[in-house]
Amino acid sequence: MRVEGLMTACLPRVEGFHASEFIRSAVKRQYWNEAMAVENQLRGQLKRREPMARHVSWRAGGVADRAYVPVDRDDLAGFLKTLPAQEPVYFVGLGSNLLVRDGGLRGTVVFTHWALRDVRVVATNNMGAEIYAEAGVASPKVARFAALHGCEGAEFLAGIPGTVGGALAMNAGCYGGETWDLVTHVTTIDRSGVLHERDAAEFQIGYRSVRGAENEWFVAVLFCVPRRNDKNSSEKSRNKIKELLSRRIASQPLQQPNAGSVFRNPPNDYAARLIEACGLKGRRIGGAEISRKHSNFIVNTGGASAADIEALIELARDAVRDRFGIALEQEVRIVGDRA
Ligand SMILES: Cc1cc2nc3c(=O)[nH]c(=O)nc-3n(C[C@H](O)[C@H](O)[C@H](O)COP(=O)(O)OP(=O)(O)OC[C@H]3O[C@@H](n4cnc5c(N)ncnc54)[C@H](O)[C@@H]3O)c2cc1C
Repeated sequence: MRVEGLMTACLPRVEGFHASEFIRSAVKRQYWNEAMAVENQLRGQLKRREPMARHVSWRAGGVADRAYVPVDRDDLAGFLKTLPAQEPVYFVGLGSNLLVRDGGLRGTVVFTHWALRDVRVVATNNMGAEIYAEAGVASPKVARFAALHGCEGAEFLAGIPGTVGGALAMNAGCYGGETWDLVTHVTTIDRSGVLHERDAAEFQIGYRSVRGAENEWFVAVLFCVPRRNDKNSSEKSRNKIKELLSRRIASQPLQQPNAGSVFRNPPNDYAARLIEACGLKGRRIGGAEISRKHSNFIVNTGGASAADIEALIELARDAVRDRFGIALEQEVRIVGDRA
């Protein structure tokens, strides 16, 4: 068969699949584009039934039907072009704000962390520096990079253990700083693999909320970080990062798998205070526990299922609503099917 013959050279890139099996299954399931992906010599790795517990900080949950690890931006664009129109696509950074239900995620996950890793200064003057970062770069790396270049104002990113793409999607922030405070421009990609250049003004930004360009994903960003004409700036900034990290070590259960704050803080209050006031600190369901150190964190004490974690989320939400009449909004994202 012609297609099979043409593909042989590229087959080792498809992990865990024998050539003929891959092609037969692609053709049978009418994922002709999937077969074409191989023919087009994509350089990334396509995986099947990828356990998402390996890729989320909760270390729990089901499998993704398919997962693609692009090599770079062109490879990512090439891969997206091959996907059938009806294929669900879900971008994942470091999975530090994500729960995939035990029944798994239908469609294709795209991992950015191994591919989009460029970070560099593109312009500086006395007032600030423009830092270009791709979506797969870890946010703490941007904080350290900015400090190294004498910038002050990006230190908060050191406390956010995800990628730049995730921070852009969530408008992640802490200690008074938010990601989009620093953004001037982003590059996005749509599901046809077409890149778009967008100014920050095209997005509506709120507390842990970003709207705009809904059917696109972040590929890169231009941050503008203030820079003082002070030769000690770099040291000051590095010290601030150290201080911020020690505050986190003191207040968060970083030794156990978790996904940071489960709920957004309601206006003029703290989700952790409300949950604790409901007597839920230390409450367990299966292997999941409301942290004794920080009540807005749920930790995996070992062997927690996604269902255990979600049940605790619902328990806390219901308890706070019943006791205080406050509807807590979830900050973590939950995707996929129940088992
Ligand atoms: C210990 C701990 C502490 C934390 N502290 C904070 C904190 O102080 N402040 C805070 O805001 N968050 C905090 N978080 C949550 C989390 O780190 C942030 O939300 C982070 O920005 C998520 O990045 P990620 O790469 O892990 O995203 P993921 O968890 O992989 O994804 C989160 C969402 O972003 C989307 N996404 C990911 N990449 C892209 C992309 N390239 N384009 C479009 N959408 C994308 C995903 O589809 C998903 O919907 C904490 C988490 C942990 C585990």
